[in-house]
Amino acid sequence: MARIVQKFGGTSVGDIDRIKNVAEKVKAEVARGNEVAVVVSAMAGVTNQLVGYCDSIAPLYEAREYDAVVASGEQVTSGLLAMALQADGVNARSWQGWQIPMRTDDVHGKARILDIDPAELDTRLKRGEVAVVAGFQGVSPQGRIATLGRGGSDTSAVALAAALGADRCDIYTDVDGVYTSDPRIVRSARKLDKITYEEMLEMASLGTKVLQTRSVEMAMKHGVRVQVLSSFEDVPGTLVVDEGEIVEQEVVSGIAYTRDEAKITLVKVADEPGVAAAIFGPLADAAINVDMIVQNVSEDGKSTDMTFTVGRSDLDRAVEVLQQRQDQLGHDYLLPDPNVVKVSVIGVGMRSHAGVAQTMFRTLAENGINIQVISTSEIKISVLIAEQYTELALRALHTAYGLDA
Ligand code: ASP
Ligand code: MG
Repeated sequence: MARIVQKFGGTSVGDIDRIKNVAEKVKAEVARGNEVAVVVSAMAGVTNQLVGYCDSIAPLYEAREYDAVVASGEQVTSGLLAMALQADGVNARSWQGWQIPMRTDDVHGKARILDIDPAELDTRLKRGEVAVVAGFQGVSPQGRIATLGRGGSDTSAVALAAALGADRCDIYTDVDGVYTSDPRIVRSARKLDKITYEEMLEMASLGTKVLQTRSVEMAMKHGVRVQVLSSFEDVPGTLVVDEGEIVEQEVVSGIAYTRDEAKITLVKVADEPGVAAAIFGPLADAAINVDMIVQNVSEDGKSTDMTFTVGRSDLDRAVEVLQQRQDQLGHDYLLPDPNVVKVSVIGVGMRSHAGVAQTMFRTLAENGINIQVISTSEIKISVLIAEQYTELALRALHTAYGLDA
């Protein structure tokens, strides 16, 4: 007997028939003799609709009331799924975040889970009752409903699995696992049987929208075994696990990309102490995140070019912040470029293998693709290239690292 947390995303509970289909999956898990807690998202499209209501009623709404509104989507699905289970003869009840309670901080709209009291659920799971928990929501120290940020029910599920000491957290979604690259672009992409937490974290933060980034951080911290699998096909998914569980580790596990960044070049800023602080300080004050940075060597010892990336949606604001300070920064002019893509090669194997970066650079060169900015971490190499080369770069790299099916 095992204890399993199952999480079903918006498309999996997108209409009444699908909720009935989910009830079947839960029932099958119970029939295997397992203790089951289920976490549900709102029905597909519902959260967007609720956010839209908030935006149209008052532009400067209070985040506490936003949470009261947007958390309601999950309340509906948890009740409906509990009914479907009961109709199927399964002993089940719904739980809202505050009823468990799932305690969060009071950063409304993107609250963090502080702790979960597992006592009552634990007793009932042991008795064979299925807990159907509304994802995405908890209760703040002030007793108000708080939501965990978009995509937050993944985090609810992983946190619940940790608190309940579950053997596994199954995330049912509309894809059947994690792939070596985006299968819509790279036809030869393969589904991975296993991936490490760290690799998954890199993929999630690069916009592979399979799991919320925070949920992966949480799984890694508490050692929760997570499986990503399809709610529409009955096939094994991808297990997200500790490195030690992966016997034959590939050097590179995947090639990811994101179009969410834009490039800014400041032409001819002074090459002297304090310049980087003068550029990036005001951006940080404006809550604009900077990702990749490259500073050229100065030809004359007096001035240099500074190139960096920001979120594409922050580009206009970043340009404004910097142009307001042109006198102080002293740059000749500024070049914004939204037509870039960041391509990343990810793999924990690169810690112990040389030449991984060289394969990337050589492959791009052979395909006539110019690298604009490079950044690296222990398990990732990222390059910024012109957006028009996205497909070419992904396919060529996928082949170069021997990932093709
Ligand atoms: N319903 C919420 C959203 O759409 C939470 C989730 O689905 O994970 O962001
Ligand atoms: Mg999601």
